Amino acid sequence: MDNCIFCKIAAGEIPSRKIYEDEDVIAFHDINPAAPVHFLVVPRRHIATLADCGPADEALLGKMAALAPKLAAEQGCGYLRDAAGQASGGFKTLFNTGPDGGQEVYHLHMHVIGGPQPWRVRVQQ
Ligand code: 5GP
Ligand code: ZN
Repeated sequence: MDNCIFCKIAAGEIPSRKIYEDEDVIAFHDINPAAPVHFLVVPRRHIATLADCGPADEALLGKMAALAPKLAAEQGCGYLRDAAGQASGGFKTLFNTGPDGGQEVYHLHMHVIGGPQPWRVRVQQ
């Protein structure tokens, strides 16, 4: 897709701080992190939004989701349980979709955000 920044990153035409890649997906640090750990998991193939995914994309979406805990652990925000069952760490996964979903880049991506819960800001009613 012409003029798509994430297609260009996936093709290596624009540099990124890559943390993972395979034949289907690439993951790299967000250029404007919202938390101590903030990276994006991005399919190589151009799909504009989550709303453009269909049954044929289920394996790809599953792969993206399954990568999140592995890559989060490598980046220092893995979900942990000790021998007593006490949980710690963890991360948020997020697909922004469309204008009201806050999507800025129209190439499907999953945010993985870890740190001391910086997203805990409540909207005023
Ligand atoms: P969205 O709002 O579309 O869900 O999120 C797009 C994300 O992509 C934003 O968090 C933004 O900081 C990130 N981003 C935009 N352009 C670039 C870029 O050129 N390189 C990297 N690494 N991240 C980008
Ligand atoms: Zn694209």
